[in-house]
Amino acid sequence: MSEMAVLSCRNLGKRYEEGPQSVEVLAGVELELLAGERVAIVGSSGSGKSTLLNLLGGLDNPTQGSVWLDGQDLARLSEKDRGLLRNRALGFVYQFHHLLPEFSALENVCMPLLIGRTPIPQAREMAAALLTRVGLGHRLQHKPAELSGGERQRVAIARALINQPKLVMLDEPTGNLDQQTALGIQELMLELSSSLHTAFLVVTHEPRLAQQMDRILRLEQGRLVVA
Ligand code: ADP
Ligand code: MG
Repeated sequence: MSEMAVLSCRNLGKRYEEGPQSVEVLAGVELELLAGERVAIVGSSGSGKSTLLNLLGGLDNPTQGSVWLDGQDLARLSEKDRGLLRNRALGFVYQFHHLLPEFSALENVCMPLLIGRTPIPQAREMAAALLTRVGLGHRLQHKPAELSGGERQRVAIARALINQPKLVMLDEPTGNLDQQTALGIQELMLELSSSLHTAFLVVTHEPRLAQQMDRILRLEQGRLVVA
């Protein structure tokens, strides 16, 4: 593995066993993502893109192969250490925002800092600054239900970035938005990814977004190939 890799996987595979049925979704995925590198993953629906991100982020276990995140072999970590590594080194953005509904935008963005034991006043200050940067300085106290779809994704992006992770994984982050709103979110992601030196791994159907990444990989028959 390269010294500079923030994420790598070797011979990664996933087989779902559903009773007598068995579906091999991933078989022999190879990937190495360098610090600050931006990679798009494309592929038809059902090709295993979300499954792959879940394995790479340590949210699910592979049935074959290994994943290293920030130099650590995920399979060798306890559940607790894996959670700590995820909180420190990784941010996630999903198609649906997954914000905590009972908390404000500010509190949602504070959460990863509080888990990392940042004192509350400092966490609130950092979260407010980042929310302002993503264009939501006027929405700090709003709860997710009081925000538009695009605003919720901006909060989700701020939450993913607040710990200054080495890597952010995004699973169809604009898939649930109208064209105009999606464009704004794409602009934001491009701006943040180039200014923060955070590696981005984004699953997307938006050619415009994919084409502005450093590389495009296609998930095809269980493997990643150069698109
Ligand atoms: P994509 O994100 O590319 O649309 P997914 O990773 O969600 O694809 O799913 C890939 C395949 O794996 C699909 O055929 C899906 O039905 C199957 N699959 C996903 N999750 C599960 C699961 N928990 N149990 C069984 N099959 C699953
Ligand atoms: Mg998916």
